[in-house]
This record gives sequence, C-alpha cells and structure tokens, in this order.
Amino acid sequence: MKQKLIERLSKYVQIDTQSNESNPDCPSTDGQWELAHLLVEELKDIGMHDVTVDENGYVMATLPSNVDKDVPVIGFLAHVDTATDFTGKGVKPQVVEQYNGKDILLNKEKNIVLSPDEYPSLANYNGHTLITTDGTTLLGADNKAGIAEIMTALEYLMTNPDIPHGTIRVAFTPDEEIGRGPHKFDVDRFGAQFAYTIDGGPLGELQYESFNAAAAKITVQGNNVHPGTAKGKMVHATKIAMKIQAQLPAEQAPEYTEGYEGFFHLLSFEGDVEEAKLYYIIRDHDRNKFNKKKQWITSIVKELQSQYGEECIQLEMKDQYYNMAEKIEPVKYIVDIAAEAMKDVDVEPLIQPIRGGTDGSQLSFMGLPTPNIFTGGENFHGKFEYISVDNMVKATETIINIAERFTKQC
Ligand SMILES: [Zn+2]
Repeated sequence: MKQKLIERLSKYVQIDTQSNESNPDCPSTDGQWELAHLLVEELKDIGMHDVTVDENGYVMATLPSNVDKDVPVIGFLAHVDTATDFTGKGVKPQVVEQYNGKDILLNKEKNIVLSPDEYPSLANYNGHTLITTDGTTLLGADNKAGIAEIMTALEYLMTNPDIPHGTIRVAFTPDEEIGRGPHKFDVDRFGAQFAYTIDGGPLGELQYESFNAAAAKITVQGNNVHPGTAKGKMVHATKIAMKIQAQLPAEQAPEYTEGYEGFFHLLSFEGDVEEAKLYYIIRDHDRNKFNKKKQWITSIVKELQSQYGEECIQLEMKDQYYNMAEKIEPVKYIVDIAAEAMKDVDVEPLIQPIRGGTDGSQLSFMGLPTPNIFTGGENFHGKFEYISVDNMVKATETIINIAERFTKQC
C-alpha cells in the first residue's frame, strides 16, 4: 500500500494544477483538466463503475455495494487543484526513507533546508517515509494526497471483496483553493447521503466545525483639493478609512486569536486623498457573534455616513460560507463513525474546529453533510510542505474502515 501511495502522489503532483482566481472558467486552469482525465482512466483501470467527468471538470465514480442490506450511500471527496500562494509548476517530489529526525536538505544548490528547529512537528516522524519538495515549489499533498488515499482505498476494497461496504461514491473536484469547489458540484447526481473530504493535515484530524465567513469591501470617496487652499474643502479619504479600522476591536484579529475566537481581518488597504478601499474578511464559529461582527461594521459605516454623507462611504458585504456544524450536528454519528474508524487503526482522533472553511462547509449547506479527515500532510501551501507516507497509509485505512463501519452501524 505504501508503494502505491508513493507512486500515485508522485505522479499527481507532477501535473501543475494550481488554480487561477482571475479566470472565471471552471476549472480555472488546463492542468486541472489534465489531472481529471488521468483520474478518469485510473478509476476505470481499477474497475470503478459510472466513471464520469462533466463539462466543469468534476470527476465522479461509483463502487457498488457488496452487501444485501440497505446502507447509506457515502461519498469521499478530494480536490485536484493546488494553492495559489506558491508555485506548483515543475514539482519534483523527493522521498526520504527512514527519516532520522535531523535536517532535510531539500535543495543543495540553493541550500534550502527543512529543519526541525523551524518545524518542530518533524519530531513526530522519526523512522517514517516522508515525501518533500525540492525546495522550489509547493508539494501539492494538499490535496493530491487525499486523491491518492481515496484511489488506493477504492482499489483495496475492489480487490478485497470480503470487506463489506455499501455503495461508495467518489468525486474529485476543481478550484477548491479559490473557494469555488462546490459551486458547480451536482449534489443530486452525486447521490450520496453523507460525504467526507480527505483534505485535512496531520494524523488524526477530524473536523466538522468551520467558521461562518463574510467578506466586506468599504470604499471611501474623498475630495482632493490643493493643500494650500484646502481648508474647509478637502475630504481626506484615507484618514476616514483609518477611522474605520481604528473603531474595530484591535484584539479580534487573526494575530491575537485561536480556537473558537473569531476576528476581523484587514486583508488589504489602498488609499490616497481622493479614494480609499478597505478589504476585510469576517470570521466566527458562532452564528450570533458572526452576525454581531457584521453589524459592527455596518454601524461604523452608518455613523461615518451620517457625518460625511451617504455617497462618501460605500459598504459591500457578502456571506461566503457558514459553519457546517449546523448541518452535521443533527447527523453527528457520521463524525463518530469516522472517529471509531481511526481508532481501529490506532489513530487518536483530533476533533478541532477548523479556522477556515472547506468544501464541506458549502456542501453541507447544499444538502450533503461533509466532515473533513486528515491526509497526513504538514506545512501546506509552501515549499516546506511534506507528508508522511506512513500516515497516508493510516488515512487510506481510515477510509476503508469508514466504508465497512457503515454496514455495521447503519
Ligand atoms: Zn485542500
């Protein structure tokens, strides 16, 4: 199983599938099509049924049930694209056998070193087989490790028909990293009652709570007049914008918060005398606190509008996604099944709120409750990304065990 996972992950990461926010097409890049077609072939090769790729690049397939009784149809999902933060072109995966706990020289020429001094989590991987980058790209274990694990689990179930399972659906989806993963996902056609994204980080991660999320853009219109004759006439857009930021609670910012604490995050700011723009994201796990945060922004803007005129300050605010716990808590047993499936392979489930969103946050609100499970990767979205193949085996076994447990517990 280890060898198969290494082969699959190494093959997938060499296709550049970085998504591109500025392209409205779905998928947003050609590389994602390339990987989608490769996955279609591979799903057919391992004997999956109903293998399809639709016009938006969503790959789907079925592993038919091998039991007589009614078992809920469950799905497993992973995304084909990689992050936009760092280049995913020309990825050269390197396999480190029997990691010895010391520095890993990723790139001799450029002297790029993955060191436990900087990344203490490396200490968890003594003796493991690791896959790293060559220091010049991201790895793309986010989320190609998830694809490799799902594919390997399917193949295992296919070749071990003595393991009972219901109907399993799988989907490999585009453009998760730019927040569009579920936008064209056909929940009805997928036809599963529940699903799991295999898109988490280190061993044991099991997540079913995400942020509630909104984005706000505030535009301040000023009035630029020659500074020599500006008295009583100049309206300074940037100074008004600074008042907005000053009225937000300073401690409710990403750099001061953790766990269930929400925040206002000033993503970017641009301005001169004539015009200023503030871009915020607003995050909170608690729906009430989330709504209060949005009201806070609205009331600051209203107050300034009453001072400077309504046309002077424009607020555009829109919700992005909601805490999936709202939809998963009523069917919480699907989280419990995943936790038990992990314990079966000696993995201690780490149930923590995600300080972000997943495809599952949107899918859960589209009628497909979807918790998230670890892949085994670390340091996603950068050149120090790496993954333990031993923990990829655990993720694969967890998928297999979930499939089996649904036949026993439902
Ligand atoms: Zn991901």
